[in-house]
Amino acid sequence: MPTALVIGAGPAGVAAALALRKIGYDVVVYEAHDRPGRTAGSYLTVASNGLSALRAVGAAAAVIDRSFPTPDTILWSGTGKRLARVSNGVLPDGTATRTIRRADLAAALTSALDVPVTYGRRLTALDLTDDGGGVVTAGFADGGEARGDLLVGADGVHSAVRGLLDPAAPHARHVGLLNFGGYTAAGAGVPDVAPGCWNLVFGRRAFFGYCRDDVGGIVWFANVPSPRERPPAELNAWTSAEWRHHLVGLAVADRTPVAALIEAGDLRYGPGNTYDLPSTPIWRRGHAVLIGDGAHATSPSSGQGASMAFEDAVVLAQCLRDVPGVPDALAAYERLRRARVERVTAHAARISNAKAAGPVARTLRDLLLPLVLRAAERGRSESWMHEHEIDWHAAVH
Ligand SMILES: Cc1cc2nc3c(=O)[nH]c(=O)nc-3n(C[C@H](O)[C@H](O)[C@H](O)COP(=O)(O)OP(=O)(O)OC[C@H]3O[C@@H](n4cnc5c(N)ncnc54)[C@H](O)[C@@H]3O)c2cc1C
Repeated sequence: MPTALVIGAGPAGVAAALALRKIGYDVVVYEAHDRPGRTAGSYLTVASNGLSALRAVGAAAAVIDRSFPTPDTILWSGTGKRLARVSNGVLPDGTATRTIRRADLAAALTSALDVPVTYGRRLTALDLTDDGGGVVTAGFADGGEARGDLLVGADGVHSAVRGLLDPAAPHARHVGLLNFGGYTAAGAGVPDVAPGCWNLVFGRRAFFGYCRDDVGGIVWFANVPSPRERPPAELNAWTSAEWRHHLVGLAVADRTPVAALIEAGDLRYGPGNTYDLPSTPIWRRGHAVLIGDGAHATSPSSGQGASMAFEDAVVLAQCLRDVPGVPDALAAYERLRRARVERVTAHAARISNAKAAGPVARTLRDLLLPLVLRAAERGRSESWMHEHEIDWHAAVH
């Protein structure tokens, strides 16, 4: 049985482990954190295309059980004007985009996984010297090593594997936004918000999102323009309560429920610098390959990062199943994935630019936005992203 070393136990790594096990690999996942559940962010959306990919590896039902449906988004201006209602993605069989707590997503994926995740193992070295057997050796910060027939770098936007495959590889790019995520429990003073959709607000001073969950609480986030990347000392200079107070100050300029929601809630994530990675020239070398944010990170604005990671994992396994020889299979994987993921990343970067706009650009944006959004409402302009489905049984060439 061939052995795969998967580096990173985020969405990409766990989905890859599920998919590789399905095609007969013996898989071990190595995670730098010392225990499960230490994932960034509070909630995230799993788009319809991501659920479709998870279905191929038998993990969609566990995610659906722990999440709530958010098939639509309503867009608002800071003046309280409703701009448009757009779909977040619904597949022909009715499977719709869902929202889930990050910790619940991790639990859902690992409950479907009966391969070992080894915590507290940070990859620091990679030996791809091919002695004819195609063996890969991973070196860890603790001095230990592991050998396998395949190494999957699923180690996120600041990937170590990326730099070991190509010392000239690009670094993650700051996209001009500080990210915050929070939650306001049902009850006391919480404005009435319709269930089943995300509400996104192009506010005067920041961009906000909120939606009601299945127990009546409100999940919310804020994207605050920040032209430069903030060092940790600056991000940690204020307490959570002080940052939350700052967000309330930014939201009161708008005629929406956001200021009241944030006032009554808890900050659960952030502030965090926001990154993307538009194009990585080298995705693979010998028997090692990058997937997920390690290869191509979209800014959170697309709501697609995890779903792209799930798609990568499934296509990678299909290629290894159907294309003889690991290097050729990895080449087929890159050929099948690169154009799509780079299109999603470019799409998200345009949205992030609109969120981070300065005063002049903002005025222009606010004038043009209703026209663009109305066209989007009519034309289902994101269906190429959300309605993408992978047929697990189709042979890859
Ligand atoms: C604020 C925010 C909101 C977001 N919202 C959404 C959303 O709504 N929908 C969506 O689809 N996406 C969203 N994303 C993006 C999404 O989180 C990522 O695209 C997704 O997590 C990528 O998965 P990954 O497994 O590739 O990387 P990661 O989730 O970053 O996982 C990488 C793992 O590798 C581990 N690791 C790192 N280095 C090493 C090493 N050297 N050795 C061993 N292990 C290592 C890390 O500890 C981590 O566990 C959001 C991102 C942010 C920051």
